[in-house]
Amino acid sequence: MELSGFSEEQLAVRDAITKICSDFPDEYWAKHDESGEYPHGLHAALARDGWIGIALPEELGGAGLGISEATMMLHTISESGGGIAGAQSIHANVYATQPVAKFASAEQRQRWLPELIRGERRVCFGVTEPNTGLETLKLQTTAKKDGDSYSVTGQKIWISSAQVATNMILLARTTPLDQVKKPSEGLSLFFIPLDKSQPGLEMTKIKKMGGRAIDANQIFFDNYRIPADSLIGEEGQGFKIVLHGMNAERCLLAGEALGLGYAALQKAATYSRNRVVFGRPIGQNQSIQHPLASAYMHLEAAKLATYHAARLYDRSKEDKSITAKAVGVAANSAKYLAAEAAFTACERAVMTHGGMGYAQEFHVERYLRECFVPRIAPVSREMIMSFVAEKVLDLPRSY
Ligand SMILES: Cc1cc2nc3c(=O)[nH]c(=O)nc-3n(C[C@H](O)[C@H](O)[C@H](O)COP(=O)(O)OP(=O)(O)OC[C@H]3O[C@@H](n4cnc5c(N)ncnc54)[C@H](O)[C@@H]3O)c2cc1C
Repeated sequence: MELSGFSEEQLAVRDAITKICSDFPDEYWAKHDESGEYPHGLHAALARDGWIGIALPEELGGAGLGISEATMMLHTISESGGGIAGAQSIHANVYATQPVAKFASAEQRQRWLPELIRGERRVCFGVTEPNTGLETLKLQTTAKKDGDSYSVTGQKIWISSAQVATNMILLARTTPLDQVKKPSEGLSLFFIPLDKSQPGLEMTKIKKMGGRAIDANQIFFDNYRIPADSLIGEEGQGFKIVLHGMNAERCLLAGEALGLGYAALQKAATYSRNRVVFGRPIGQNQSIQHPLASAYMHLEAAKLATYHAARLYDRSKEDKSITAKAVGVAANSAKYLAAEAAFTACERAVMTHGGMGYAQEFHVERYLRECFVPRIAPVSREMIMSFVAEKVLDLPRSY
């Protein structure tokens, strides 16, 4: 990847994270992908050096940097060979805590975030539901206030890292859909304990295609009790609050996709320099070179879009001329472009390796399996195109 143009802070993050990740090479990730064992080692190493709090305020023990630097951190973890699995070992703790830092009370922030930064607490993010999918505003999980607690009932699906998380940042409906003016009202955001020893909470793991070191789960709440002071911000304002974390997540995931794409190209270039067939390195053939060169240029373009979106996100905190719409369009576009560029790079890397592209030993098959995640989550390619068509091109809403 071309490094010119990045800030000193971003380059310092890249150096430090590269050093940490050198203890967790491709072989570590291949082993964990096969066993499904959680990468506790990387999480602990990142917590030890304070990286989980990269974009959280200094007074809480964070580094006080922004999403521009956090994106570089996750990009670098992914590019080290950790891929989406490596990045997901801390992913939710970086972006889903952004709305907590902004909207929770001072007492709540103090109660939750310093421990999370030290790695003593971990969050997962609970939005997706089996029956509503991308139609988030129709989600059916409810939280009903009852004295000094809420009772949560419903189902979540695809919740990453729930098996190792101590807490979940949960989006649930507190006012029924038919009693609100707009569907975006009546949703609330909570920072809840995830305690399987308590009645009303069950989770089952989902067997999946890639990133198997990170558990993905279906979660069942049945009158699960949470303290009333788990509520972040005002009741009913949860959707507006959570959006603050969602744009950050799109930037991070774009960075993670880029990391996979660059790592795949690196492996393809090395292999094609060394593999000799018909008396010359396969990389001397233009049919091998050109697809790799084209994949590189697409990654570089997506890189510009990604770090532009992250910069807008960070600057919008101070510069009120940067609208929420501008940030949303940039973050969604970046996630789309990076995911597609990564997919192309990973697919070409597998094909460049010929038969060995299909062998676990060369790692590119693992990268290809993982690079579907940024295409699907947290929002699909199709929904991003519908969003841009509506918000930028002023076309009729299609969903
Ligand atoms: C590995 C992994 C980890 C995840 N981790 C988390 C997590 O930690 N927390 C969490 O909350 N969620 C998580 N997710 C869930 C993820 O965000 C969702 O899978 C994603 O938002 C898509 O939702 P869905 O699967 O319900 O797709 P659906 O809504 O069922 O959509 C299926 C397909 O139909 C298309 N489609 C639907 N409606 C339209 C329309 N109107 N126009 C055009 N196309 C349409 C979609 O684009 C998609 O291609 C994870 C998912 C994966 C795969």
